[in-house]
Amino acid sequence: MKMKIYRQQIIEAVRLEDVVQRYTNLYRGSKSGKTKRGKCLFHKDRGNALRINVTEQIYECDVCKERGDVIHFVQAIVGCKEFDAIRMLAEWYHIPVEQLENFTSDTEEKRKKESVSRLFSIHQEREFYFILRSLSFCQCNNPIFVYAHKLLELGVSPTVLPDTYSHISGRMLFPVRNGEGVLQGFVQYMGGKDQKRSVCYPKDLVNRHLLGLYHATDSIKKCRFVYLVWNNKDLLIMHTIGFTNTVACCEEELTFVHVRQLLYYINQVVIVYTEEIYKQVRTMKAAARLSFHGAEIYYFPLSQKLSSIFLHRQTKELEYFIRQSTRLIFLEKMKDYLFLQLEKIELLLNEICSFEEKLELRAKQFLIRKKVDKLSILLEKNWQCLYKTNQEEVKLSS
Ligand SMILES: [Zn+2]
Repeated sequence: MKMKIYRQQIIEAVRLEDVVQRYTNLYRGSKSGKTKRGKCLFHKDRGNALRINVTEQIYECDVCKERGDVIHFVQAIVGCKEFDAIRMLAEWYHIPVEQLENFTSDTEEKRKKESVSRLFSIHQEREFYFILRSLSFCQCNNPIFVYAHKLLELGVSPTVLPDTYSHISGRMLFPVRNGEGVLQGFVQYMGGKDQKRSVCYPKDLVNRHLLGLYHATDSIKKCRFVYLVWNNKDLLIMHTIGFTNTVACCEEELTFVHVRQLLYYINQVVIVYTEEIYKQVRTMKAAARLSFHGAEIYYFPLSQKLSSIFLHRQTKELEYFIRQSTRLIFLEKMKDYLFLQLEKIELLLNEICSFEEKLELRAKQFLIRKKVDKLSILLEKNWQCLYKTNQEEVKLSS
C-alpha cells in the first residue's frame, strides 16, 4: 500500500525524460514534441529505437520492447528493487519522501527473520559439506569433466540424500561458494540441449551468487579483468580451455547483488554473448547496471554459441580465438578512448584560446590521430585474419 503512495509521489515529481537523458541523448520524436527518441540502452541499438511518451511519461523500445515508467527505468538500469529505485530518485531530485523512513520497519522484521535463519544455516552448512564430500567423479568419457571436477568441484551427488535435498540427488552438481569460500549451495549442471532452468538448492541461490566466482578470484586478480558468461556449460568450457577468470550468471538477469559481488574484485568486465535480440537485451541491461556502479565494460559478441564452437574446434584453436579476440576488443576500446580525446580537443579548439594554446592542441591532435590511424590498420588486419580462419573452420566442419 505504502509503496503505491511513494511511487505516485515520485512519478508526479520527476520527469522521465530528465532521467533518461542522464544516460542517452534524446531528440524530438514528433512535431508536437509529445514524443522524444533516443538510443535504446537495453539492446545494441544502431538507430533511435527508444520512444518516450512525454505526456504519459512512459518509455518503450520499438525493437526489444522494453517499456515502463521512470521507476521501471531506474530499476532496469541499476538492477535494483522498486523500493531502492524510489529512494534513489528521491535522493537525486531532493524529493522529501520522509515517510520512506517508516518503510524500514518492514526491513527490521526481515532482519529478525534473518537472524533466526542464521541458526538454521549452521546446521545447513554441515549438510552442505557432507554433500560436497560425497560428490563423485563423473564417469562419462568427456575429458572436460575431468577438469571440471578438479577446477570447479563439479561432481555427481549420491542417489540417497536427506529429504530436503531429494530434488538434487543423483544429479551432476556445481557447488557454489561465496567470496570467502563458504559453501552456499548447489546448482545442477546443465549440459544437455534442454533449455529448462537448472535445479538448485537453496531455491534463490543463482539469484544471489555468481557461479565460479570463488574459483576465479585469483585468476581475476592476475588478469585484471573478468569474463562474464550466462550458463554453467559456458563456464565449464572457458575454465577448461584456460580462461579461469570466468564467472557465470545463471539467472536471466544480472542482479544488483551480482554486480556488487563482482565489482568487489574487479571493475573490468568482458561480457560474452551471442547476438540474438533477447540475449542482447540481457547483455545491455547487465552492462548498464555494471557501468552504473563504476565498471568498465567490453563486449564480446559471438556468431554462435560457445558450446557449438567448442564442438567443432580444437581446444587450442578456440583458446587462440578467444585470446586474440579479447586483445582486439581491448584495443578497440582504446581506439574509442582516443576518438573521445580528439572530440574533446576539437571542442577546446573551437573555444577561444590563445595562439600558443592552439598550437599545443594541434600538436596533440596530430599525435593522437597518428596513433588512431596505426591502431585502425592493426585492428582491421587482425580482425580480418581472425575472421578468415573462423570462416574456413566453419566450412570444414559443415
Ligand atoms: Zn531496445
